[in-house]
Amino acid sequence: MSLVTLREILPAARTEGKAVCAFNFADSGTAEAVIDAAVAENRPLILQVYQRLIGYPHIDALIAMARKLGESSPIPVAIHLDHGASLDQIRKAIDLGFTSVMLDGSTLSLKENIEITRQGVEIAHRAGLSIEGEIGHVPANDRQPTPYSDPAEAELFARETGVDALAVAVGTAHGFYTETPKVSVEIAEAVSQRVKIPMVLHGGSDTPRDKVRAIVRCGFAKVNIATEFQYAYQQEIKRTLNEMDAKFKPVDLILKPAIAKASAHAAEIIRFLGE
Ligand SMILES: [Zn+2]
Repeated sequence: MSLVTLREILPAARTEGKAVCAFNFADSGTAEAVIDAAVAENRPLILQVYQRLIGYPHIDALIAMARKLGESSPIPVAIHLDHGASLDQIRKAIDLGFTSVMLDGSTLSLKENIEITRQGVEIAHRAGLSIEGEIGHVPANDRQPTPYSDPAEAELFARETGVDALAVAVGTAHGFYTETPKVSVEIAEAVSQRVKIPMVLHGGSDTPRDKVRAIVRCGFAKVNIATEFQYAYQQEIKRTLNEMDAKFKPVDLILKPAIAKASAHAAEIIRFLGE
């Protein structure tokens, strides 16, 4: 199937009360794991790359590989830049063949965030890409304060910028939690009343599943997962290395079980969010 933008997959998911998973990949193994999972579940997929990797020397080869995987799979696949930090990164993502970008101005003032995101929307749309913005701020981990987005600000932001999808802070954080997060379904519902474009849940990993489901039902049609499935990949590599007891094994044979393990983990999440 062809590569798609978020516009081809998220509005329908929101209407159905479902979510499309966005997995952060960083090498061929993590990309293969999630493609295999989404194909097995017959669900659309967002393959996303964290903005730090834009500076990786072989990012062009990594994105070419992701495009090839998407083009030759039977499901719609978007290649998305996660937490884009500047307009220059958006331009670079366009040149590299991404189909979608995020511009994260969530640490700026509302006015500055609207201003820079509006410029990002113009650049992305002119090149045929979709774009996600963020209002409120989802923290890097749960040791930072948990802010919630203001529903009225979210409505204003969506209207003023013209983004295709909107990341909203509802109490989740990136990474594993040290204590149960205070996820607010009420905030999600309040934003949902005012914002009609698909919304995005960041920090999906390790968040109680019943909360994730309730948030998705409010119109959060994209759920980002990085930590959880990458950890499954890492733990399986560790298990294999321990088993090898310092002996040699070709790298592909070390990665093969890790890809299978991460893929099974991803498939389970895709299934849950596609119900
Ligand atoms: Zn995020």
